[in-house]
Amino acid sequence: MCRHLAYLGPLRDLATLLLDPPHSLLRQSYAPVDMRGGGTINADGFGAGWYPDGATTPIRYRRAVPIWTDSAFAALAREVRSGAVLAAVRSATVGMPVVETACAPFAAGRWLFSHNGVVAGWPDSVAALASRLPVTELLTLEAPTDSALLWALVHHRLAAGASPHYALGAVTAQVHACAPGSRLNLLITDGTELAATAVHHALAVRVGDGEVLVCSEPTDQSSGWESVPDCHLLTATSSTVDVVPIPATTAEEP
Ligand code: GLN
Repeated sequence: MCRHLAYLGPLRDLATLLLDPPHSLLRQSYAPVDMRGGGTINADGFGAGWYPDGATTPIRYRRAVPIWTDSAFAALAREVRSGAVLAAVRSATVGMPVVETACAPFAAGRWLFSHNGVVAGWPDSVAALASRLPVTELLTLEAPTDSALLWALVHHRLAAGASPHYALGAVTAQVHACAPGSRLNLLITDGTELAATAVHHALAVRVGDGEVLVCSEPTDQSSGWESVPDCHLLTATSSTVDVVPIPATTAEEP
């Protein structure tokens, strides 16, 4: 299963956040330690999204190659500084295409989104749920993958005015109801706050000194990391973290 990371805090260069730590996202691409049976390495592409200082719309860099092969990104990452970053390395689920557009982060407007996991029984299990989306939203999915559909479901709720944590909680509960056994670690930010779910996959958080880091696996061995319990929803700003159980009742809502 893919690995993902989000950061909110003081301006940092992308290399410091994604490439340099002892168990960085780069290292998690070829030597992850907590994949829980969902693949072995994350070599099917990667992506990083960041908000330039003062900007509310993010910039993305995505490629369908292993992150460790992309020297252009390594050089770029030393020069780009941001106080809000969302990045992921991908292990494509069997049967899903290895293409740039299937790599997180998915984006729309001010949002960046990632999914770490798999929808069980794809695509039949979620066909009825997907059919409730407007046809144009299905026709314009970025890729024919479970993650792209999850993003469409989340974005549909955001566009209707839902908060990010409500949208993630509701979509997670809905998908879990029709596709039990799915692994649904979702992660979203608008550059000032973030929300994340832990559903049958690893997730850790560290907050302090005016910054928050959420990652599939801790990026170092410092003492501040906390594991997010299974079936929980996390919301955070650069200085606050709140973790609550995912409300099952949201599964019933449209
Ligand atoms: N199932 C998704 C995909 O193939 C996510 C991959 C993952 O978490 N391994 O893109």
